[in-house]
Amino acid sequence: MPAAQLSDGVCNLPGGLVLDDGRRLGRAELRPLTGREEEWVTQHAHTPAAQMATKILSTCFVRLEDMPVDSEIAGKLLVGDRDFLILQLRRMTLGDRFAAVFSCPACKLAMDVEFLTQDISIEPRPQSAATYTWRSEDQQRTVRFRLPNGADQEAVADLPVDEAVQVLLERCVIDDGGTPLTLAERSAVIAEMDRLAPQIDLELDLNCPECGHSFTTPFDCTAFFFSEIRAQSRHLMREVHYLALHYHWSEAEILGLQRERRRGYLALLNETLRPN
Ligand SMILES: [Zn+2]
Repeated sequence: MPAAQLSDGVCNLPGGLVLDDGRRLGRAELRPLTGREEEWVTQHAHTPAAQMATKILSTCFVRLEDMPVDSEIAGKLLVGDRDFLILQLRRMTLGDRFAAVFSCPACKLAMDVEFLTQDISIEPRPQSAATYTWRSEDQQRTVRFRLPNGADQEAVADLPVDEAVQVLLERCVIDDGGTPLTLAERSAVIAEMDRLAPQIDLELDLNCPECGHSFTTPFDCTAFFFSEIRAQSRHLMREVHYLALHYHWSEAEILGLQRERRRGYLALLNETLRPN
């Protein structure tokens, strides 16, 4: 099953949310950010990306199958599904083209990198169950677990990496049979989680134009999207000002417009007020 976009705003989750009754919810409908969400992202610059993703997803979700999505449901979505949805929101709000700046680890020079949404690979893993069981090779040990979700991401957002992995594992292991996991068992369970979870490949293979050095760098699309919105926030106030000045709409009405619509009116104003 493709995890691709079906039509504007509608997409299939690469993992899906399996409810307690076994039903899998996979068809998601989103709407782009409005000025109101752009403003919220800007005003909460110090909020961890996981919390921000939950808030923005719950606001911009139209429905998941036939269900409304609040922050609790957004928190239950798998990490890969959330990354995928934020990628879709970014595409709907800002378009397909990414322009990022990376620093070459060899010559330390900054390099501009452009790529498209389609360059980010998505590995769908449609979920069949809410929990899974890992068994050791000798079948002596079984561990029941679930896959990490948004609420887990939020819980570990402020922790150092080692501690975050530990806490994440503790949250996701549902039954360890009463015996703490050994180091090897922990690694095996984490590997099993990786195998079962939908993956969004957020690693870029880059080639430095200055020194020719090839390297791979992680790319956090969610954090990047929020930083893009913040970087453009100084335009938002100016845009609201122009629209209020000419159309006499209230600030709340203008902030309620989706970005593309807002920009559309501004382009029309520009045409009208500055004829060639
Ligand atoms: Zn270089």
